[in-house]
Amino acid sequence: MRKLRRLLLRFLGLILLGILIVLVYNTLTFNSKQSEVEAFNPPPIPPNAVSHLQSAIRIPTISEAGKVDSSVFFQFNKFLQSTFPLVDSLLEHHTINDFSHIYHWKGKDESLEPILLIAHLDVVPVESSSEKEWKQSPFGGVLADGYIWGRGALDDKLNVVGLMESAELLLEQQYRPTRSIYFAFGHDEEVSGKNGAMAMADYFQSKNINFSYVIDEGSVVVEKALKGLEAPAALIGISEKGYVSLDLKVNLEQGGHSSMPPKTTAIGLLSQAISKLDENPFPAKVDGPVGTMLNFIGPEMEFPYKTIFANRWLFSGILENQLANATASNALIRTTTAPTILEAGVKDNVLPSEATATINFRIIPGETPESVLDYVKTLIDDERVGVIFNNPNFKQAPGKLSPTEGFGFNVLSNTIREIFPETVVAPSLVIAATDARHYEACSDAIYRFMPVSLKKEELGMIHGINEKIAVSSYEKLIQFYIRLLQNSTR
Ligand SMILES: [Zn+2]
Repeated sequence: MRKLRRLLLRFLGLILLGILIVLVYNTLTFNSKQSEVEAFNPPPIPPNAVSHLQSAIRIPTISEAGKVDSSVFFQFNKFLQSTFPLVDSLLEHHTINDFSHIYHWKGKDESLEPILLIAHLDVVPVESSSEKEWKQSPFGGVLADGYIWGRGALDDKLNVVGLMESAELLLEQQYRPTRSIYFAFGHDEEVSGKNGAMAMADYFQSKNINFSYVIDEGSVVVEKALKGLEAPAALIGISEKGYVSLDLKVNLEQGGHSSMPPKTTAIGLLSQAISKLDENPFPAKVDGPVGTMLNFIGPEMEFPYKTIFANRWLFSGILENQLANATASNALIRTTTAPTILEAGVKDNVLPSEATATINFRIIPGETPESVLDYVKTLIDDERVGVIFNNPNFKQAPGKLSPTEGFGFNVLSNTIREIFPETVVAPSLVIAATDARHYEACSDAIYRFMPVSLKKEELGMIHGINEKIAVSSYEKLIQFYIRLLQNSTR
């Protein structure tokens, strides 16, 4: 008996030793994926660059469904024309649907595939209830406390004006790119991109233009991106989540007086269905773009995080729990469920026969609006609760995955390491929708990255109150674009 126990212990010990060897081996061979670049001295930026962005913010190019103030958008056209005379006179310019702009900077070598940088010039409105919380007027373009304040300072006028600024500077220096550079600025990103980005993507397709890479807004440089990572992370969105809303509908055909309620009520049934959804989130998946992100970030971490990231075969449960704990990282690893609208009842003493809930889902790569519908139907499993698309014409599958190697990714990653030398570059998933998805037919390499460093709490300024950018960050953005254009087209 004792002999058997000893044998068993020895066997267990061997297994543990085996696991330990694998853990150590995987940690030691978990090599850095960061590119090595030489120290780079960025060019100085003229002071009027800041005033250009201030002027752009003062033109309230607000996008609201069904409403377009043409005069404001025409004013923005004029602003671009008069502020960047060299771009205006030396680049080919097409206006699409009056307010979107394509600029074509012809390269010396027509055999090379062009690159495309996109941004949008429209902004979201300011809710009247939050206006008094703004420390500076949202459309005043104020320069105060080292910041440029207002709508568009982060989303997304800084990219429109920053790209124009970088091109104007390079043109002043008589820079001539080898491969062609295109800019495409949409005017309705905040309300679907139909007349802007979609029309411009159609234009490129009609001309058979395929891009070596496309860059749009999306992820940024974030401090304290993950526990265990000291350096800021420059996250490059290699895909974006999909979007669908479902309606849960209960129709019992009989309502009645609330003094004599039946056992089953429409509101009761609907509530049960919503609870089921709350209690059964979609499964977490630490693969796809998020898995790739962990592969890039992991080698830069300290012990024990590096070991955990290097051995996901053993620690995936711990990792999933850690990521699921914060709402931002939870949104990266699963399709999220958000009940957004409830409709039922008209009077306090009348039982409604009908009750409807609208639930919004943001879909991770690997799933589709149809698979979300199936999952919800199977989960609720009650024929009294109908599940349908809220709007069959408005659902979006997740973006396709862009490569994490090749010309586009390498140029982007090298430029980030030159301008933000202290950062760790990592692919990621964008949880919001961008114009980039409309260009999928024009390129296999679409990256969502804005060259701005933000603290986690600052991300809330996008579409929120007190949107602003530090002057130093804006200057860095222009330097980044100058360098990116040079690196891509030398
Ligand atoms: Zn935007």
